[in-house]
Amino acid sequence: MERLYTQESLGSEEIVDLLGNLDQTSRKRLHTFAHQKRVARYGTGVYLRGLIEFSNICKQNCMYCGIRSANKAVSRYRLKPEEIMDCCREGYNLGYRTFVLQSGEDDWYTTDKLAGLVADIKRHYPDSAVTLSIGERDDETYTRLFEAGADRYLLRHETASSSLYEALHPTMTFENRRDRLRALKAIGYQVGAGFMVGLPGQTNEDLAKDLLYLKELNPDMVGIGPFLPHQATPLKDEPAGTVEATLDMIALARLFVPDALIPATTALGTAHPYGRELALKAGANVVMPNLSPLSVRPKYTLYDNKICTGDESAQCRFCLDQRIEGAGFHVDMGRGDSLNWLSRPPGEQAVR
Ligand code: SAM
Repeated sequence: MERLYTQESLGSEEIVDLLGNLDQTSRKRLHTFAHQKRVARYGTGVYLRGLIEFSNICKQNCMYCGIRSANKAVSRYRLKPEEIMDCCREGYNLGYRTFVLQSGEDDWYTTDKLAGLVADIKRHYPDSAVTLSIGERDDETYTRLFEAGADRYLLRHETASSSLYEALHPTMTFENRRDRLRALKAIGYQVGAGFMVGLPGQTNEDLAKDLLYLKELNPDMVGIGPFLPHQATPLKDEPAGTVEATLDMIALARLFVPDALIPATTALGTAHPYGRELALKAGANVVMPNLSPLSVRPKYTLYDNKICTGDESAQCRFCLDQRIEGAGFHVDMGRGDSLNWLSRPPGEQAVR
């Protein structure tokens, strides 16, 4: 752990060894190291992002996901661009300066419609960042959305094990996922990768691959959450990933890619009443409260018992502020760009 702290990397076997030998004492040390690294790079601020889940319509069929296309029990919805703009207005008035637009892979939202929407958000709120999380699209679409003003893109790699990836994604390939991440980075986005912990069949060797892949990609953001089963998916009877293992992976991600922004995920808050606070203490530094209209929130159910589906956005903001302060951190309502990206030559950064 000490070597990891100073060198910011380890070999595959060393990672597997570390993961296989964690006990309560060494786990606490690992989290403390991650916390120190986070404070050294980012201080004790926690960035808030307003999350708008604008469509649960999806053409993909991921085995774990509640909004997979084969799930006919989901009540599908799609917010209109005007409704998304309303969410941004409400969010902006509550102080948010990053809007995360997330959806299933919904082709009704063509490149033209999305580019128009992004440009509109940036015109109204030029001091805010727009993050997209809308899955796999081609190079031309990614480029046009970047040119329209999108700043960041979240596309978790989900797992860095090719066999596990392909078993879980009948409609997608491991190679293409990585290729899309490379493309997003080359275009100039701040890019978010990430993975689930406790996927059925996932081993410590697979988790080592996740960390080494992060090291290689060097993303600006890393989303890590436990796998949580959804009753209407083929994985409904599989055990959930544990909070403990997820926190360990967050801590390790902070030590492998120290300049990345790491969210304390909703999945972790669902798995444990203080999951997000624990994540903040183990190296995470972002929270993404929900800005979606209350009427659609229960429909964006990726896994069972998802939290925060009934709170007003303002209540959510108030509650989170208190929780963040209570955990010993402070809320930072700035854009919160990644250190990685801020250190790039000015010509390669595009604050638009
Ligand atoms: N369609 C976009 C994409 O593929 O990137 C964004 C939406 S997708 C639903 C957002 C994330 O939800 C996925 O990257 C996945 O890691 C997570 N997710 C989906 N189902 C989950 C589950 N059952 N447990 C935990 N996380 C899940």
